[in-house]
Amino acid sequence: MKPFNNFIAGEWVPGARTQQNINPSDTSDVIGEYAQASTAQAFDAVAAAKQASGAWARTSVQEKSDALDFISRELLDRREELGTLLAREEGKTLADGMGEVARAAYIFRFFAGEVLHAGGELIDSVRPNVRVEVTREPVGVVSIITPWNFPIAIPAWKIAPALAFGNAVVLKPAELVPGSAWALAEIISRAGLPAGTFNLVIGKGSEIGPALIESPHVDAITFTGSVATGKRIASQAVGRLAKLQMEMGGKNPQVILDDADLNVAVNVALQSAFFQTGQRCTASSRLIVTDGIHDRFVSALRERMETLRIDHALKAGTDIGPVVDQQQLDQDLRYIEIGKEEGANLVFGGDRLQRDTEGFYLQPALFTETTAEMRINREEIFGPVASVMRVKDYDEAIAVANDTPFGLSAGIATTSLKHADHFKRNSQAGMVMVNLPTAGVDYHVPFGGRKGSSYGPREQGKAAREFYTTVKTSYVG
Ligand code: ADP
Repeated sequence: MKPFNNFIAGEWVPGARTQQNINPSDTSDVIGEYAQASTAQAFDAVAAAKQASGAWARTSVQEKSDALDFISRELLDRREELGTLLAREEGKTLADGMGEVARAAYIFRFFAGEVLHAGGELIDSVRPNVRVEVTREPVGVVSIITPWNFPIAIPAWKIAPALAFGNAVVLKPAELVPGSAWALAEIISRAGLPAGTFNLVIGKGSEIGPALIESPHVDAITFTGSVATGKRIASQAVGRLAKLQMEMGGKNPQVILDDADLNVAVNVALQSAFFQTGQRCTASSRLIVTDGIHDRFVSALRERMETLRIDHALKAGTDIGPVVDQQQLDQDLRYIEIGKEEGANLVFGGDRLQRDTEGFYLQPALFTETTAEMRINREEIFGPVASVMRVKDYDEAIAVANDTPFGLSAGIATTSLKHADHFKRNSQAGMVMVNLPTAGVDYHVPFGGRKGSSYGPREQGKAAREFYTTVKTSYVG
């Protein structure tokens, strides 16, 4: 098997060793052999980005826009092939894999347009005969560190604005999904960027990740991943005074009120809690249900859960694939045990499943009679495990919803305009969903959270400009 290499300074370079990645739906299916960059190579990649950053920043906006448009078109043209690779590598279904590739394509297309609108502001000075120009310039070199749950979309939503606003980048994808990142890098390598503008280093986060933070050439760091890693990166980055953007965990609430349409309530809960095996930072795992609808909701949700088909991600008819690896499966099973020990009532699922192929299959689990203090309601599980909390009314529901150290996404199912409006205004989450799943967001509007979920400026949409540019104020006499 020919290894897939790193991309540094415009060249495909082997690493210090190689590592295979496997299909979580079928552990006998080896996807590829991937070069593992050395720490020195990670530093080289940052240095290459530094050297290239001026040339790319000076490239005309037309050429920048054309390059992003090229990447977008190729992703769209190859969405079935790349969606299959993604599904094979991460375990999400083919439909979700193809959807994610399309999303990445639309993100590049959006920023191909944004390139042409990077401009600034002209402001009258308070002094006579002086004009003030507020302009945006590239930050310089951006380190991009990404997780495994959206192997193409998350790199895309960081790379596209970074390049659009004239920065050079180094991407370090998650250990479990080098294949999707490599495929994206291969497309970017043919987009006509000056050598060194885009670099890919593959390898273990704890080994090569620090180079992407410690190198003196790094101007900005954007990270999506776990809270623990985020905090480690943040403390290092602050020491370096690098610009920082982080998206971390969530423990997102889904409120269901007595007046909700039961079908809507069940659909949003099902989709946010269990689809993509709950492995989304916007997944909701706390279902906060008022007394009057509680029993009807639980039995309707349970019934729908029974119909879910959990199987090989590429099999026709599969609703939910496997969880991503053994470690994640163990973590999910551990939390299911913790829930039982805490006295929660497991009304459905929670067992490991056997299928035709050896994979990490787990029956989605539903707990009822849970309380806000339980660990299953406080800690992010990142798997298909949801707990129902029974509350007496809306006031208690929103208090419980906000009672968390996280604040990424929050949902409410209701037909009451008054409650929906109050929830929009008083939820402590960065994104609020009314009668929609907490997971599933558009690509052209801001994405991000509050409290322990996010740090730094928002990602995506027009908001992305804030992080990927730096402001210059010029006074002209
Ligand atoms: P998850 O458990 O969801 O994979 P992690 O936070 O462990 O989340 O990983 C997110 C990304 O951070 C991955 O690309 C990983 O390799 C990287 N990473 C892990 N440790 C470090 C570190 N010490 N420095 C920089 N990056 C790291």
